Amino acid sequence: MMDALLHVDKITVRFGGIVALDKVSLDVGRGSIQAVIGPNGAGKSTMLNVITGLYAVDGGAVSFEGERINGRAPHTIAQLGIARTFQNTELFGEMSAIENVMVGLDRHHPYNLAIGMSHGPGYRRSEIAARREARDFLALVGIADDAAVAAAALPFGKQRRLELARALATRPKLLLLDEPAAGLRAAEIESLNLILLNLRAEQGLTILLIDHVMALVMAISDRISVLNFGRKIAEGNPDTVRKSPEVIRAYLGEKGAHALGA
Ligand code: ADP
Ligand code: MG
Repeated sequence: MMDALLHVDKITVRFGGIVALDKVSLDVGRGSIQAVIGPNGAGKSTMLNVITGLYAVDGGAVSFEGERINGRAPHTIAQLGIARTFQNTELFGEMSAIENVMVGLDRHHPYNLAIGMSHGPGYRRSEIAARREARDFLALVGIADDAAVAAAALPFGKQRRLELARALATRPKLLLLDEPAAGLRAAEIESLNLILLNLRAEQGLTILLIDHVMALVMAISDRISVLNFGRKIAEGNPDTVRKSPEVIRAYLGEKGAHALGA
């Protein structure tokens, strides 16, 4: 059996008459890069919202490192080691890139504890340490040179990376990415892929990403699960999933061959 860091067990989520997720199960193995794909409205974001505690389930359970997490508050779940980025980047636009990352630093970081105190020598020391640490996270995603630039002034591709750096600053065990490639050009997607592979190799990070199309996830995912209208219709390695007749059919309505990267 795979060592599942995250175990999603037959979850159901309803919004009025809509069944956004219908008894969907998912295992994310420690150290793996996994993807959930599916057409618009398939339930992908709902899945991330359930895992991070933003949405309640109508049935089923979610556990992380063997501990049940559904029903817990989002900040409690985050503290257990789950970080995410959003489909639409949510940065502090007027703050510099490095300050955005400093916000993400672990709340036990001396810097964050010192913020509430006077701006004495202890504060200065911890601020310097926090800046150094934050700069390392910017470097991990390749934007250390932009540390002083206001987040809103960064080009879109770099904002995406900054959001990633801020999520990393919380030192998660599991990183959830909601459509990280949306709006990126091909070259940017390729470098994002390298960053993600590197994070797994060097930080031992486990990554679950969701995407509309398969192009990004094909190259880096060990396993892909496919949702359609709230149901899991296929699962396996990228090759298996790409060839699945069910998957091709699900995407046909929206020019499937293209969406599947064929
Ligand atoms: P995806 O991310 O795959 O595009 P979503 O998870 O966003 O799909 O949505 C799945 C379904 O659930 C859609 O029909 C969507 O309209 C519905 N849905 C998602 N979130 C809400 C919500 N907060 N309130 C009502 N309906 C929602
Ligand atoms: Mg979505």
